[in-house]
Amino acid sequence: MSAALSLDSLRSQAETLSYRHQAFIDGKYVDAASGATFDCVNPANGRVLAQVASCHAEDVDRAVAAARRAFEDGRWRNMAPAKRKRILLKFADLIRKHATELALLETLDMGKPIRDASSIDIPASAACIRWYAEAVDKVYDEIAPTAADALALITREPVGVVAAVVPWNFPLMMAAWKIGPALAAGNTMIVKPAETTPLTMIRAAELAAEAGVPDGVLNVLPGFGETAGQALGRHMDVDCVAFTGSAEVGKFFMRYSGESNMKRVSLECGGKTPNIVMGDAPDLDAAAKAAALGIFFNQGEVCNAGSRLLVEESIKDELIEKVMAVGKGMKVGDPLDPTTDMGAIVDDTQLDKIMGYIDTGRKEGAKLSLGGRRILSESGGYYVEPTVFDNVSNDMSIAQEEIFGPVLSTITFKDPDEAVRIGNDSMYGLAAALWTRDINTAHKAARALRAGSVWINCFDPGDNTVPFGGYKQSGFGRDKSLHAMEKYTELKATWIQFS
Ligand code: NAP
Ligand code: MG
Repeated sequence: MSAALSLDSLRSQAETLSYRHQAFIDGKYVDAASGATFDCVNPANGRVLAQVASCHAEDVDRAVAAARRAFEDGRWRNMAPAKRKRILLKFADLIRKHATELALLETLDMGKPIRDASSIDIPASAACIRWYAEAVDKVYDEIAPTAADALALITREPVGVVAAVVPWNFPLMMAAWKIGPALAAGNTMIVKPAETTPLTMIRAAELAAEAGVPDGVLNVLPGFGETAGQALGRHMDVDCVAFTGSAEVGKFFMRYSGESNMKRVSLECGGKTPNIVMGDAPDLDAAAKAAALGIFFNQGEVCNAGSRLLVEESIKDELIEKVMAVGKGMKVGDPLDPTTDMGAIVDDTQLDKIMGYIDTGRKEGAKLSLGGRRILSESGGYYVEPTVFDNVSNDMSIAQEEIFGPVLSTITFKDPDEAVRIGNDSMYGLAAALWTRDINTAHKAARALRAGSVWINCFDPGDNTVPFGGYKQSGFGRDKSLHAMEKYTELKATWIQFS
């Protein structure tokens, strides 16, 4: 897409873009049964992009029935693995083929820089689907080491109808992390995108159908959490919910399950990632750059954002100076501009939440060292400056609560044990990073940090081969890698006794 990355051409492409805005049920776009719609807003200027179908319980019933039929008649799960693989590979290819359109949709809908949507979100979504497609005909089942008079097969079977309820920060990519393994395992699905960012997933449903995913196998229900999301969570015929979002809503899904059919739930929730920089960090410039990008990338709307910078006292001033220099150099503005580093916050509610935390940080006695203001409000959009707080103590709300915005809290420590103690002093345990030259410190701390991912001398690397997910109230279950298949499969033991 790089050749096409000029602001003028992107703007003109954006103007002629058409928006799919209906639910996708049983292979067709349909309105919500009630005819209700909601405004889909571009956070870069506050303008309405489209009126999107607002699905409620009735639509959920229709989609679940379609997914159930498609599961029971075996049109997908009983298809030869090599054929399912070919279809999913084609789906991935079509995402890539329509990458510019999808990146534009993501940027207009969510406010993230087009550079990131086109270099990360869309290609990573395609790569994820492709990775699981390739696994379809390569994963074998097991035979147990029983006595010689029996044969015990341990096989994985799809769990059934899977509902994926996903957030707005990486709209298509978070959905792809569920769709890849769930469809590869032979399930049928209903995806509920976040109400703020439904456009790419609605469009992707059509690409899946074009690739050959049979009717009813992948349904998409745009709508609100309290209505469509809750109806999926409470549905008696949904077998599994794969959720990504806040810890608060994650807990709702456990309750919905307990109060309905005990459906399986996996939760990828929030984080308050400690990014720990020791005095002997191998390259302070690299650590500072990673710390800044770790919190300012995607406007800080990242579950594993490095929102707590833990720095050894001896290097604090030097490191903070360097982090702020990177922050100051970042261009905040029009997400469609390919030179923009930080775009718009997803909506006015999230903007208010972030500004509220900046206020709280000041009141709690932290020192505001950089940023702290809403800017470019004349655009009608929701922009916040890269913001750095110094002199934060870990018990302040800005160190404990997930802000989900470009706000960094800096905390000092004296030695590695104290760093680990502060790092772990959080309800979350999604990720942690550590910068040190000392292999002993690195190993000891990596073991002691209670987090699903620990990054040494880097921040937020990732690969489809590596699982991702949290400890503690960051949830349970893992996305990515073959481990994700566990969420979407039942383990069957078939015991054959020889006479
Ligand atoms: P959210 O408010 O928890 O929403 C997530 C999804 O749940 C949305 O589709 C939402 O629908 C739906 N929902 C909201 N209320 C619901 C309810 N009462 N019943 C059923 N469903 C409901 O999270 P968000 O604000 O979209 O996203 C930010 C959060 O996601 C952060 O906490 C972030 O850390 C987390 N996240 C985690 C990961 C990870 O992999 N661990 C990745 C990305 C984001 P509506 O929005 O349409 O109402
Ligand atoms: Mg939007």
